[in-house]
Amino acid sequence: MFGYGRSIFTWDGTLKELQGTYHSSVCKAGQRTSMTASPNTSSGLEVLLSTLQNAGDVESTLNILNVLDELLSAGTDRRILYMISKGGSEALLTALVNTARCFSPNYTLLLPMLHLLAKVGHRDRRIGVKAEDAGAVVLTLNLLKQNLQSPKRVAACLWVIQVFASSVSTANLIGENYGVDVIYRLIPQYTIKNLHTIKASINAFAAVLCTKANVCLVVSKGYISGLLRLYEDWHCKDTHHVAIAIRHALLRCLHKVTYSTAGREAFISLGGLHLIFQTTQTCLMNNALSSLVEPSVQLMRKCLPKTRLPLTSDLSTYSFPIPSKPNSDSYINKSVALKALLYIQSIGDSGEDSDEEEAEKNQTNTNIIDEDLETDLNKLRHRPEPDRPKEELAQYSVFCPELSHDFQELDLGSETERSSAASTSSDEEDEPCYSCSPRCSQRKGSDPFQGKHSSSAAHSDSCDFYIRSAVLGTSPSFRAMPQEPRGDNFLHQNGHDHNDEEEAADESCHHSAIDRLLERNASCIPHHEPKLYRTAASKTRSIPDFNILGFPDFWGHLPPKGSTPMAPRKPSVQRQKAFEDIQRFLNKDDIINRVVFDLDDSSLQCPSESTDSLKFFSKFESGNLRKAIQVRRFEYDLILNADVNCSQHSQWFYFEVSNMEPGVPYRFNIINCEKTNSQFNYGMQPVLYSVREALEGRPHWVRTGTEICYYRNHFCPVHGKNTATFYTLTFSVTFKYSDDVCYLAYHYPYTYSALKAHLKVLQKSVDPAKVFFRQQTLCRSLAENPCPIITITACPASRGWKDLHQLRNRSYIVLSGRVHPGESNASWVMKGTLEFLCSDDPVAQSLRESFVFKIIPILNPDGVVNGTNRCNLNSEDLNRQWRKPDPVLSPTIYHTKGFLYYLNSIGRTPLVYCDYHGHSRKKNVFLYGCSVKETLWQSAVDTVGVKEDPGYRTIPKTLDRIAPAFSFNSCNYLVEKSRSATARVVVWREIGVLRSYTMESTYNGCDQGIYKGIQMGTAELQEMGVKFCHSLLSVAKDVMTLYSRRLINHIALDHNILDHTSSDCFEDDEPPCVEEIEYSKDCPALQGADLDIDINNNMTSSDEDEEREEEHQRNSFSASQQSNMKSRLYHLITQTSLESE
Ligand SMILES: [Zn+2]
Repeated sequence: MFGYGRSIFTWDGTLKELQGTYHSSVCKAGQRTSMTASPNTSSGLEVLLSTLQNAGDVESTLNILNVLDELLSAGTDRRILYMISKGGSEALLTALVNTARCFSPNYTLLLPMLHLLAKVGHRDRRIGVKAEDAGAVVLTLNLLKQNLQSPKRVAACLWVIQVFASSVSTANLIGENYGVDVIYRLIPQYTIKNLHTIKASINAFAAVLCTKANVCLVVSKGYISGLLRLYEDWHCKDTHHVAIAIRHALLRCLHKVTYSTAGREAFISLGGLHLIFQTTQTCLMNNALSSLVEPSVQLMRKCLPKTRLPLTSDLSTYSFPIPSKPNSDSYINKSVALKALLYIQSIGDSGEDSDEEEAEKNQTNTNIIDEDLETDLNKLRHRPEPDRPKEELAQYSVFCPELSHDFQELDLGSETERSSAASTSSDEEDEPCYSCSPRCSQRKGSDPFQGKHSSSAAHSDSCDFYIRSAVLGTSPSFRAMPQEPRGDNFLHQNGHDHNDEEEAADESCHHSAIDRLLERNASCIPHHEPKLYRTAASKTRSIPDFNILGFPDFWGHLPPKGSTPMAPRKPSVQRQKAFEDIQRFLNKDDIINRVVFDLDDSSLQCPSESTDSLKFFSKFESGNLRKAIQVRRFEYDLILNADVNCSQHSQWFYFEVSNMEPGVPYRFNIINCEKTNSQFNYGMQPVLYSVREALEGRPHWVRTGTEICYYRNHFCPVHGKNTATFYTLTFSVTFKYSDDVCYLAYHYPYTYSALKAHLKVLQKSVDPAKVFFRQQTLCRSLAENPCPIITITACPASRGWKDLHQLRNRSYIVLSGRVHPGESNASWVMKGTLEFLCSDDPVAQSLRESFVFKIIPILNPDGVVNGTNRCNLNSEDLNRQWRKPDPVLSPTIYHTKGFLYYLNSIGRTPLVYCDYHGHSRKKNVFLYGCSVKETLWQSAVDTVGVKEDPGYRTIPKTLDRIAPAFSFNSCNYLVEKSRSATARVVVWREIGVLRSYTMESTYNGCDQGIYKGIQMGTAELQEMGVKFCHSLLSVAKDVMTLYSRRLINHIALDHNILDHTSSDCFEDDEPPCVEEIEYSKDCPALQGADLDIDINNNMTSSDEDEEREEEHQRNSFSASQQSNMKSRLYHLITQTSLESE
């Protein structure tokens, strides 16, 4: 029981009593009759709020305010939010308006009222609208204007205005009533008096700048200049750093005004960038000022004027005339222009193009029902008829040679066995006969290379495929070596006799420089033969007619011993890089700005020997570097080439660099990356290959680079709006030798020619009596590169009926990869798979006896050859073409799908289909599959009655057990609408393959298992390819099952050390970073900055006369009364808020 001031308002005990007492003693005039009508539905809080709005009694009101404030300041925001939900904001606003409208407002009441309103309103998202409705906005502004002499009242009004300004219309209303000007004039030069009032004024000023109109006002009145002067003044005079919060608040105002173009222009022209740069230097030297550094850096980054990329066009340097389209020139120009336009529009919305990657966004919160998920059961189960006439499928029977082969060689002796088997291998280059396809005749008539053949042949006569002379130059004895003419070998290559081409190659180059180089230096790289590579490369068709081999691809790569840990991120690396970028703008005279390499300018592709700059080169297979500009002595801006016929997707890079000084860190900035974030921010490094190291017996691609950072920059495309953004990947490399040629790449390169050479080596390596290995050409790509399809299975033990029957009843497994050319990791995984399947390993033997493997290792040969990142030559993502692939524009997809239809039509629907991909933003290796039930379940659709074979989980479960890099928890089986045209979904839905997967391998490394913290090398990637094969044993059927189980147990035992502490896949998979990756343009909040603390300080400080009365009032209750009151109200409010849940 307590006495409530002099009005002897009392309560004790229960809520009911409280309400009754209210009714009788406070609401005498029945102002709230509803309360008596339904006492049980009103909470104590509502009673208090009602009293607050209606009571004329100063002391009761004051006491209620006091009680509310004490209760609400304790505990979490939940109480305040509860109060807001019960109309707390409205009650306070009404009370404010009623009190302030009096002839002489009572500040004893108004001050605590404003304070509480600021605290509550701060947490009410609709406070602005509510304040307007209550007529409190202009009223508060007037209170401010009337009390400019009283710092305490000014502060209280400013906090409320700050809170009101959270709504745009309210902020505009304040601006229209000269609020912006009034508040601006309250910000003084440096002083030590009334700091919290000054801070309140700056914060309120920042708050009202949330609208365009107010920012325009500030710009037009020249307040930016004033703000800069103020910041400078406080910066210089606040030598004891007592006013950091004020300096921070001033920076926030500058942030707000520079959201507009006019604001940024004013900021730059008034020397803002220079001023902030200077002041930040001081801040960097003093720990106490560290909180000012980040807002300053962000401010400078934001205001740095947008700069167009130094290119003549956003379109790729490489263009390709699309065949079989009449008026192909105008067609391509139109489509390219349209795509460029769409791109420029989309990039403004920070749209992203990734394939499976987008799906991960939806994984981050399982509670959110993803609208992208397919919930239409008919569509999930739909198995439409083939997308082409059934008669067309017969042509694909040629790709099942194992079904028609008679294995006569098995009856012959071992000598003849080999030779006859070798002769069967000649079908590797067989063209499939598409007699029924109209495409054939069309294609022949419009060969895009027809015109090029003659020039290319003439060119080839005088110019062999030579390794760059620069490479030879690394070893002085080879510097003067002439390039070997291609000679007879070339005729063979363009002729039809493929069988002895290797021998021919051997002969013609017998005494070449390369041979001598190989003789002296070659190390033994398993499954790699440089000469085979050269032969393969000479037949590869590229848009620029590459006639130079990338040394690493030619020479070969051997994984270095040991593993490379992820690179630690240097603290503040992003800030430091941003500083250097800003310095460039401030001190333009220090910048060299010399173009040293330019794909668009042939005079800049082979710079003269004498320059002291690095030399760059990228015109070789899979190479990508469009332009290199030296900006400082040891710093280069690099621009990547967009995908062919396209103006976007730049991300993949692979180039040669030479003429370096040893021991000096060179900074490379790739300034037109497009993805919004990258594993480069999380420990991933690019890869480097040193020719000199290779010649000395260490032919390794190694992870390299320090000071790695990936961040948004100020560049924008050459054409279109300048709102689009690019990202910079920056890294520093210190070269070991001066006399070296090095290669740098996004990831371990794997060229199309490397695949062709590798297949030759594999073919030679297998025992034809055991392994049935066939390489055929599925079709030709747009640029007429053959798309290989490989058959691997076991030869039957004999020609006996039983053995042949077993062979012809094996299940089919179809694997594909590299539909996205930039995902070279997929090719290394595929390399592991291919080598394993051809090996003597008992598991491999078992797999071959159980399955027939059909492998299309590179679905996008043209993209891989021309160094594109994502698309085919028609600038389309081939993994979006599966639903209705165009036979002319997407031949590899059209025929892969056709072949799958064929298998389906002859009753051999594949048991497993897997498309190998790479993933740039996640760690580990994982699978995406398809499940009706999981998709529906995720969409909260009832799955009762839906039957599904859970077999799609067997392989990922097995992989989780046996593959160190694999993470089961990162897998998912959801069918998204946006993925409806991908291989995984189409093969599952249309071909009916239950186990249809995308396998995603990281570019970086793992965050679990024995590879945790390690960057993936090619050995680990290849191992993944092997483990994937192992996992297939788990789905092997009948006869083999027992044996398979035994094998798989054996495998599992070998890997007891596996430590899969699989984390929840729905969590962000990135490890905490030393430095927060900063992409927003907002001013970072000051830690510990809290409106409540300021308000409380204002309430307790009693240094002014006008507050003495209030103090007196406040002290008029006894301490026990207050505590009693508090406990009761606490009980009351917590109880009701709990009930409300
Ligand atoms: Zn991909």
